[in-house]
Amino acid sequence: MDADVLVVGTGLAGAAAARALAEAGWRVRALDKGRGPGGRLSTRRKQAGGFDHGAATLQANTPAFAGWLAEEIVAGRAAPWGEGYVGVPGMNGLVAGLLDGLDVHWSVAVATLHREAGSWRALDAEGRVVGAAPALVLAVPAPQAWALLRASALADDVVPPRTLDALAGIRYAPCWAVLLESEPSAECGPPDSGAGDGVDAIYREADKPGRPNAGHWVLHATNAWSEANLEADAGTVALRLRDAFIARTGIGPEAIRDVSAHRWRYSRPLGILDPVPLESAGLVLAGDAFGPPPLTDVPPAERAWLSGRAAAGRLIAARQPKS
Ligand SMILES: Cc1cc2nc3c(=O)[nH]c(=O)nc-3n(C[C@H](O)[C@H](O)[C@H](O)COP(=O)(O)OP(=O)(O)OC[C@H]3O[C@@H](n4cnc5c(N)ncnc54)[C@H](O)[C@@H]3O)c2cc1C
Repeated sequence: MDADVLVVGTGLAGAAAARALAEAGWRVRALDKGRGPGGRLSTRRKQAGGFDHGAATLQANTPAFAGWLAEEIVAGRAAPWGEGYVGVPGMNGLVAGLLDGLDVHWSVAVATLHREAGSWRALDAEGRVVGAAPALVLAVPAPQAWALLRASALADDVVPPRTLDALAGIRYAPCWAVLLESEPSAECGPPDSGAGDGVDAIYREADKPGRPNAGHWVLHATNAWSEANLEADAGTVALRLRDAFIARTGIGPEAIRDVSAHRWRYSRPLGILDPVPLESAGLVLAGDAFGPPPLTDVPPAERAWLSGRAAAGRLIAARQPKS
């Protein structure tokens, strides 16, 4: 279990940090409560193909992120689509590529963190040590970072109360996503606008590069509808948004094979925190809610990637001997 750094959370931010640290020669141990790579760039696999039920597409506003995506296109893990980019063969291919060859442990939910004698230890809910290292990248959505740090009861000189307060102030927009499987032959023109039915966007997976025509569709509900129906059960949400899909596309219920819904409590942050200067305790926070002012103008996924790279850079700089 010897590692120089623990990375908790391997969405785009944690994966970017893990890759940059590994490239700098650090031994990385990464932990994620999910069953596979992606985080909010998840792709749910079914036999016939996948559903990108998190972010459907990425935009690049900085040369650094555009440059990385260009490399990923050459590597076959990304493709241009419309005015943006998608991962190939699913959005999660981008995260999988960053984590390729690294020591990543799935289905490991970190419940508490401890700092003792210059080392971090991560424990699961049963109190088992699931990782230990002198440095820690915490790359989970801000409300989850807040909950984890609060449950960990760390000393004030490790995580000052004002940092916890700042994290507590970051809110996220929720999003209900519906995964709908139709007969692959079901066709429709551009979906009607259907204002007021709660649907923000409809994506047909087969329209994206590198996907088979499996009749897979993803619907994203609007922020307002998602907020209003946040605690509804997934089955009810799936049926209501399926009805909106039928009305908008003209694809009838007889052509729909399956429908399910996924609730994203934290889809996109509504505020941004400056990077928190915690490196003295070997801790950096990363994710789409973190970034100095220049990063506020970039879309959240890009900010997550940039923040992961920046977090790695800050740990590497903190380890250099001072001249
Ligand atoms: C429906 C939807 C649509 C979106 N559309 C866009 C878009 O068009 N453009 C755009 O730029 N962005 C979009 N986003 C946002 C984008 O997906 C995110 O900004 C980005 O993926 C965040 O990456 P991250 O690494 O910061 O967080 P995440 O991807 O959330 O990664 C955090 C990881 O931490 C893990 N984790 C959490 N707690 C623990 C714990 N206690 N122990 C272990 N692991 C833990 C989680 O399993 C997860 O894998 C969208 C998001 C959603 C949900």
